[in-house]
Amino acid sequence: MIIVMSTQATQQDVDDVLERMAAEGLKPHISEGEERIVIGVVGHTYAELIDVFSAYNNVENVIPISKPFKQASREFRPIDTVIDVDGVPIGGGQELAVMAGPCAIESEDQLMRTAEVVAQQGARFLRGGAYKPRTSPYGFRGLGEEGLKLHAKARAATGLKVITEVMTPADVPLVAEYADILQIGARNMQNFNLLDEVGKIDKPVMLKRGMSATIEEWLLAAEYILKGGNHRVMLCERGIRTFEHYTRNTMDLSAIPVVKRLSHLPVIADPSHGTGKWHLIEPMAKASVACGADGLIIEVHPSPDHALSDGPQSLTFDNFRKTMEQVRQVGQAVGRKVGQPALAMA
Ligand code: PEP
Ligand code: MN
Repeated sequence: MIIVMSTQATQQDVDDVLERMAAEGLKPHISEGEERIVIGVVGHTYAELIDVFSAYNNVENVIPISKPFKQASREFRPIDTVIDVDGVPIGGGQELAVMAGPCAIESEDQLMRTAEVVAQQGARFLRGGAYKPRTSPYGFRGLGEEGLKLHAKARAATGLKVITEVMTPADVPLVAEYADILQIGARNMQNFNLLDEVGKIDKPVMLKRGMSATIEEWLLAAEYILKGGNHRVMLCERGIRTFEHYTRNTMDLSAIPVVKRLSHLPVIADPSHGTGKWHLIEPMAKASVACGADGLIIEVHPSPDHALSDGPQSLTFDNFRKTMEQVRQVGQAVGRKVGQPALAMA
């Protein structure tokens, strides 16, 4: 349920409600809006408690949360969540979070060159998989811990924060040691043991939409992580499977404003996996920003033709620069700040 305090509520009024919650064994989640405070509670909130809290001073309304995803819902938290990634904010109208880099970390040279270019173009996050889910067991499955070490090296050299996928519960502690954001891939969106595990850590998590997942299933998957106590969760729309074969997936742009309405969690758009084609990244990136995405995750490779995974949907350095230029223009049109390119060194 949610407890909406009136605009006249004093700190003492709020404290009285919180004290009663503690006595009832309930855990509050406080959202301080500009005008009023809303307190969300999940768990065993018995119907009679609605009457109990309604009687408190300056409680305007006590409403049960109607959605099955409780903590992920906007009812629970009316204001946007802003995730602090080691000093870089994501969500809530902050600068567009641009995450860019190779699909898979292949070598030090490949990662370092890409990291320098994307940082120079205004990205704040470096993506790169060290553990790769591959359809074929003969595909390149990543460098494992060696890849994580290269990521840490690239972070030290460029200041970029790093995001990488974790595929199995047993790997969570190791990946969390190196990564700034842990990615849960589309194929693992409903790996509930993995969701439980990342719910226990103190690192942000990006949850990709499963390729056949409804929006409700996706938000319920996020709920697992929130329920575990990890509130730094962002969602990533990466395309869904449809009858269309011209594109690898169908980028569900409408999911962005739908989720922004249903949930307070930041939404990142992935036009690389969303389309499978490098020349569709720029238009879908621009559309995603216009639709209200809080960030973009884009695959970039020094030589996409030689990439060990997802080459056809990876941008060259030059195409990434052009895409960023275009995204900046859309950002300006919709009032969203986008990272500027660093001035060329003299
Ligand atoms: C990836 O980010 O490289 C990836 C495997 O993504 P997804 O889980 O969306 O397919
Ligand atoms: Mn990929």
